[in-house]
Amino acid sequence: MSSVEENDVLIIEDSPAVGILLREFLTKLGLKKIRHCQNGKTGIEMFKEMVDSGSVPLVFLDYNLPDMTAYSIMSQMLSIRPDVKVVIETAREKSEEQIKDVIAQGAYQYLGKPIRLEKLREIIDTLRIEEIQAIDADGIENIEEIISNSTQISLLRVMQYMDKPEEVIQPLINKMVADKKIVKINDIKEVSCPRCGTIRVAQTFHCPKCKGTNFKQDKIIEHYKCGNVSPAQTYVEDKCPKCHELIKIFGVDYRVQENFYICNDCGDVFAEIVTKYLCLKCGDKFALENAKIVSSPGYSYLRPSA
Ligand SMILES: [Zn+2]
Ligand SMILES: [Zn+2]
Ligand SMILES: [Zn+2]
Repeated sequence: MSSVEENDVLIIEDSPAVGILLREFLTKLGLKKIRHCQNGKTGIEMFKEMVDSGSVPLVFLDYNLPDMTAYSIMSQMLSIRPDVKVVIETAREKSEEQIKDVIAQGAYQYLGKPIRLEKLREIIDTLRIEEIQAIDADGIENIEEIISNSTQISLLRVMQYMDKPEEVIQPLINKMVADKKIVKINDIKEVSCPRCGTIRVAQTFHCPKCKGTNFKQDKIIEHYKCGNVSPAQTYVEDKCPKCHELIKIFGVDYRVQENFYICNDCGDVFAEIVTKYLCLKCGDKFALENAKIVSSPGYSYLRPSA
């Protein structure tokens, strides 16, 4: 098994300064094979190249890229290699909910900006721990490690992380409850793959028209008179691309809407992304209505009080 130091790294980050800093920190942490690009399109190409040459890089992905959204890029990478680990970097402060969201959508970790060496070290250390666990995946220490890393976790997820059946996991969990290391909470409902039953699934995002995963977030202008709806930059010199008239008064004859998506493949403009699920184990793709929702006991770690 290759060690973390041997891992290929792919940085997709449009700010050269952040890219350089990230590379410097990663080098300090012992990673050597680092590639860097500045947009989603090149990122996907480099990713494919690396996968073709037999490696699955650890990916550092900027949340706000000019040409594609992070979700779009993550969806494409996950459909090529469901086991890819993507670390999302973002400048804006995220709430715990939003972070959970990003993680639920298949990201491996979240890295806040400004990037700190300590946080990066934590992520790389977790990778090292997982590698050790993959070699020796049993024992109560490992379960404790897994549970302490999440705010709450289901029995099913622990079973899948440990790759052990309920008969093995439940007694270990019962012992931890008795020792007051963890506490039982409500049952947790999770989306599972209708084909193989695993809950290791990620959300993917698609254009409603062509079902592609290559889109970006942008603002659009709607021209009331002719009904044209297209990206702001298509109104060259304030001329509507459809009727060629000048757009005049904001709010009166046109309006601007933020947070729209534009498909880079088919050009469709849309407000709602189509969500699908991708099974990280068998590769099956399915919609939420076809998903199997499974419920199992939830547990929460009791942090030893200082
Ligand atoms: Zn599956
Ligand atoms: Zn499309
Ligand atoms: Zn018009």
